[in-house]
Amino acid sequence: MDNNYHIETISVQGGWEPKNGEPRVAPIVQSTTYKYETAQELADLFDLKAAGHFYTRLSNPTVEFLERKMAALCGGIGSIATSSGQGATSLLALNLCSAGDHIVSSDTIYGGSTNLLGHSLAKLGIETTFVNQDAPESEIAAAIRPETKFIFVETLSNPSVKVVDFDKFSRIAKAAGIPLVVDNTFPTPALCRPFDFGANIVTHSTSKFADGHASALGGIVVDKGDFDFAASDKFPALTTPDESYHGMVYTKTFGKFAFLAKARTHVMRDFGMMMAPMNAWITNMNLETLALRMERHSYNAQKVAEFLESHPKVEWVNYPGLKSSPEHERAKKYLKACGGVMTFGPKGGRAAAEKLMDNLKLAAIVCHVADARTGVLHPASTTHRQLSEKEQISTGILPELIRLSVGIEHVDDIIADLDQALAKI
Ligand SMILES: *Cc1c(COP(=O)(O)O)cnc(C)c1O
Repeated sequence: MDNNYHIETISVQGGWEPKNGEPRVAPIVQSTTYKYETAQELADLFDLKAAGHFYTRLSNPTVEFLERKMAALCGGIGSIATSSGQGATSLLALNLCSAGDHIVSSDTIYGGSTNLLGHSLAKLGIETTFVNQDAPESEIAAAIRPETKFIFVETLSNPSVKVVDFDKFSRIAKAAGIPLVVDNTFPTPALCRPFDFGANIVTHSTSKFADGHASALGGIVVDKGDFDFAASDKFPALTTPDESYHGMVYTKTFGKFAFLAKARTHVMRDFGMMMAPMNAWITNMNLETLALRMERHSYNAQKVAEFLESHPKVEWVNYPGLKSSPEHERAKKYLKACGGVMTFGPKGGRAAAEKLMDNLKLAAIVCHVADARTGVLHPASTTHRQLSEKEQISTGILPELIRLSVGIEHVDDIIADLDQALAKI
């Protein structure tokens, strides 16, 4: 499909273009394997001499429809879908790094990513330095070492909804000769396309707004195809013979598709974090309304943030769409709108936050964010409860902080629900 179509059009029609007599809706191919007439045909597929599906751990038609749609939405040359957002970040890191390598990451990222980079990858000998994303350019650049393989940031961070300074980070990555990788989960391509601002690779947890209905876990890594791996001496796994593929050199065989080819034929083959066809089908279907949903999430969240900011029982509200937000100018520069997630603190500390949440009727207490239903979470007593109160505060998790994910119900009903719960504290 023509990549110059608008996001709204690609969301609905991208990825699957039926031929005469084929189903209008992308079909689900619930099969682990594919039949061939000759042994040679299958051997050629295994040797990567021919393209085609042969085992769903490596590729599947339904997953491929989603991969094509997301690549087109993001403006990339291709993508690879995974079992979850964590699967996407793992695939990315294992594709670019080996033991002894190093990553520079913003410290304002999703907690699961912090654990993956800071603990699990560290155990494999891949070290990460976490930097304050608002630190001066020179300070962040100083964290880069000869063995640093990529820089990792989030467009709009979970849960602190900070907007990254793309200009600064893309300059730092360019100067260092390494890719800038952006987790674009919260805005989705409907609200921001990081490739327009210097990112080379983007990742998403599609479990959030992309699926948007809290019904299917998934992740995806999309490559813009503009980082010149062949010209870099930092990625020998892509530019020197791969013994597990008869000495093939990825950059020679696949050109600008080298990163994606290795991700599939090497990392996906060996670690197996593929997306299930059913989840790809659900995500693909739900993406059809992505642009509509993101517009409504953002509209509702703006109204809710303004309501909370003016409420006498609310201490503070953190949403980049508010003029009072220190992130507001950057949000206007990089985002079409700010999405549905915010944090706020009621007056009265942790007890007030818990009481408020217990009294909500429409908004459910859920671990999830970023779906059609309004939901709340109290990080201090759930996702961050292993930390001491002092540690919580130093990571920005104040005792009264509530993460609010504003859904696409009628905004008056969402506000009325918050209003009646606030009256009870
Ligand atoms: C949720 C999330 C992830 C992890 O995704 P899962 O699908 O839950 O594995 C990664 N990054 C961000 C920004 C997220 O919000």
